[in-house]
Amino acid sequence: MKQKNILQFIAIAVFSIVLFSSCNSTKEKIINVENARIKALIVNGQMNKSHDDKQSSPILEKILELTGEFNVEIATTPPQGSDMSNFKPQFSNYDVVILDYVGDDWPEETKTNFVNYVQDGGGVVVFHAADNAFPDWKEYNEIIGLGGWKGRNEKNGPYVYWENGEIVRNDTIGRGGKHGKQTPVLIETRNPDHPIMKGLPTAWIHAKDELYGDLRGPANNIDILATGFSNPETNGTGKNEPALFTIKYGKGRTFHTVLGHVNGKGPHVAVECAGFITTFQRGVEWAATGKVTLPVPAEFPNAASWILWKNFQPLSLEDLVEAIKDYNLDDSREHISALSLRIRNSDQKPETLEMYEKVMIEIIESNATNDAKNLICRELSIWGSELSVPALEKLKSNKDCGEMADYALQRIQG
Ligand code: ZN
Repeated sequence: MKQKNILQFIAIAVFSIVLFSSCNSTKEKIINVENARIKALIVNGQMNKSHDDKQSSPILEKILELTGEFNVEIATTPPQGSDMSNFKPQFSNYDVVILDYVGDDWPEETKTNFVNYVQDGGGVVVFHAADNAFPDWKEYNEIIGLGGWKGRNEKNGPYVYWENGEIVRNDTIGRGGKHGKQTPVLIETRNPDHPIMKGLPTAWIHAKDELYGDLRGPANNIDILATGFSNPETNGTGKNEPALFTIKYGKGRTFHTVLGHVNGKGPHVAVECAGFITTFQRGVEWAATGKVTLPVPAEFPNAASWILWKNFQPLSLEDLVEAIKDYNLDDSREHISALSLRIRNSDQKPETLEMYEKVMIEIIESNATNDAKNLICRELSIWGSELSVPALEKLKSNKDCGEMADYALQRIQG
């Protein structure tokens, strides 16, 4: 009897230890996951009147949090003209500081802390108008590489742009900062081997944005990752302007994106652009860690069309199909491009291709517009099989789609 009690006691004790330690390891795991997340701080609070940080900062926060890789906090300064002496964010508590601020000088202590943070290896991301800030703060301009407006001129450094396959530094006298009318922008990769750029196409269209040009600055240790063509037809500079670039300052890393104009009521297509979102997420990760693990999405845009993610992430396949059904000839082809890219960049296993083929058959058999059906016929001419034949045969009698249906049938059967 006594022995049985002892055995019971031992059994309970062992069970408790196992239970306790398994709880503990789960708890540890959760803590580790949280620790593994990148700590990002967005700085905002003041802005010039052509931008709105109250709208852009929460969008940037959402874009980062959707990856599951970042913990994001926002440090907001007091409003313009008020006492700044208590604005003292602890930059060193973060892996990366994202600048969405143009306004009054920070207190000296905060400026020193920021420079020391970068010097010691901190990451910095310069978002669009933040390169207008602090024209007279020498270290800030070294950290951001290039800036514009607020009296910048030849004293701030050369104009920097891309010409004949190389970076140009031009010391011509003149003001720094110019942009043309807002327009979609052709972005071209200049350093395909950089971790942020690996796997991206050599050229892609960025949705309508305000492309900065004629930026000037010290541009020490600059690496131009991609340029945007500033089209003179829309009052641009006519040059391939740095759009995405990095700067090395001390042990720190800066990723600078001039893309992302946000103001007014929206929609804010510059930051809904899949190309902006992907390069921003990857750029922030690189600035924080020196590496990029975030994948390039299947539907990253190409030089044919921009792609918008209204919720800052790709549409579900169902929603994408519904959007394609409404396509009219004058619309952007973003949705059909997205579907086409998803197929092209998929694993292309027979079952995957069959799934996409069924989706396309559903569209040509639905009440989709004839323009949508014609675009789908073009895709079926590439990806279609015997499975599509009955639906295409039926579509031949539609006077607006018959020609494309016939074309697809010939390609499939030929
Ligand atoms: Zn802007």
